[in-house]
Amino acid sequence: EFAVATTEKHIFRSKLPSISIPDDLPLHDYCFEKLPEISDRPCLIDGATGSILSYSDVHLLSRRAAAGLHRLGIQQGDVIMIFLPNSPAFAFAFLGASFLGAISTTANPFYTASEVHKQAKASAAKLVITESSHVHKVQDLGIDIIVIDEPVPAGCRSFSELLSADENEIPKVDIKPDDVVALPYSSGTTGLPKGVMLTHRSLVTSVAQQVDGENPNLYFHKEDVLLCVLPLFHIYSLNSVLLCGLRAGSAIVIMKKFDLVKLMELVEKYRVTVAPFVPPIVVEMAKSEAVDSYDLSSVRMVMSGAAPMGKELQDTLTAKLPNAKLGQGYGMTEAGPVLSMCLAFAKEPFSYKSGSCGTVVRNAELKIIDPETGASLFRNQPGEICIRGKQIMKGYLNDPEATESTIDAEGWLHTGDVGYVDDDDEIYIVDRLKELIKYKGFQVAPAELEALLIAHPKIAGAAVVPLKDDLCGELPIAFVVLSNGNEITEDEIKQYVSKQVVFYKRIQRVFFIEAIPKSPSGKILRKDLRARLAEIVQNG
Ligand code: AMP
Repeated sequence: EFAVATTEKHIFRSKLPSISIPDDLPLHDYCFEKLPEISDRPCLIDGATGSILSYSDVHLLSRRAAAGLHRLGIQQGDVIMIFLPNSPAFAFAFLGASFLGAISTTANPFYTASEVHKQAKASAAKLVITESSHVHKVQDLGIDIIVIDEPVPAGCRSFSELLSADENEIPKVDIKPDDVVALPYSSGTTGLPKGVMLTHRSLVTSVAQQVDGENPNLYFHKEDVLLCVLPLFHIYSLNSVLLCGLRAGSAIVIMKKFDLVKLMELVEKYRVTVAPFVPPIVVEMAKSEAVDSYDLSSVRMVMSGAAPMGKELQDTLTAKLPNAKLGQGYGMTEAGPVLSMCLAFAKEPFSYKSGSCGTVVRNAELKIIDPETGASLFRNQPGEICIRGKQIMKGYLNDPEATESTIDAEGWLHTGDVGYVDDDDEIYIVDRLKELIKYKGFQVAPAELEALLIAHPKIAGAAVVPLKDDLCGELPIAFVVLSNGNEITEDEIKQYVSKQVVFYKRIQRVFFIEAIPKSPSGKILRKDLRARLAEIVQNG
């Protein structure tokens, strides 16, 4: 239930003029709209092999992937699961599905079997694309497994076989702007991870808000070389690096996994101009002396998002990269994901302040509300950030209740983030109302860990809350109530959870308590537990 606004709404908009955004183009057609002008330009550069694919190569291979998926029975509206690290194949699979009017659900390749099973079942994925080393985790799903590397394990199919299909075999499909194209999973403001339905319209709008429009509004352009080190299974990288890069006609250097030295080698070798990062990468760069041994002068902008980056950190890296502007973006999967971006990146930049998350994107509205009353607040008053625009999700898959408690009747998406807008329209995030824990920008849903904990026969109650951490941002820690007469150690609990979850969801500390504080309606009083944790930390 949303509180009803009692004062007139105060709405914030971009300082840049609104632009015309196509409302009828499927995502792939929009991304490749300028293909005739850029067909020979470099599009995807595989950082591992050095192979360079042009825009026409990527267009062709994506269409072949579509034809290959179709041969395997994938039809419009079907879901495929992309369970891959960053690779050119990721792009072909995602775009190929889009050409068919199919939907990609993306999952972290480091997920355990039980994590990936939950997502595959919930999304009703018909097929999974992965690497041979991850096949054992998806073998029991009973769906086709496509493997991108060699040798192909028994019972799986090869992705190169898919790419040998004839691109003219793509069936004619009538894709509507409101059809879903991407289905990332996010826990949103509460509960378990849910499928976030991003439509062709959402993603076209979001990409346009970032890279379309005439000077001075253009963030990336075709001379740019983008570094794609953030994982493409997360919407930040999929949207703001891959899709924005394609639309802008930039070259995209793909890194399979983060390694600071390798990263700097790639920046130097390919003269990378734009580096989208998350705060932990900024921390590593800011601390590293090796930064001085590489020629990083080509970098004109470093973006940080997915988790907070304080002013001090921002200033430290800015000093190390004198040619680069360093700014933040603020996103949330459900919001498409970008809500705001630093205007320093526009070709004729606006001034901006360190520590801010930029200003709201174009063709969108943002308001700050009092979480108690729902009244919209004026400048410099912190409250819950809400966003409205065509870029936001259509809703959660098969979960109208969660959708209704996230997007209100007027179309406002409630983020669960607390922030304010200053006198220069810049947004600052100061707190989070929602349960979500963010470890190095990765989502950790407390409800998921709590469900695992209480499934243990010796545990009667559990609550998971964040502990602040300099490097990781936040760490999940648990308060646990033992069931009568039972004993179990902190280490046993940690190991029990570790076996079932990806590395960043591991419980870092366990505190035993008598009872989990709950509201009369049975909701965990997380604020109380956060306060209790702060006390424990303070007392050492
Ligand atoms: P996700 O859906 O995984 O992208 O997570 C979205 C959440 O990450 C947001 O609702 C914020 O709580 C947090 N977040 C994203 N970007 C920033 C940022 N620049 N500063 C602070 N928090 C952020």
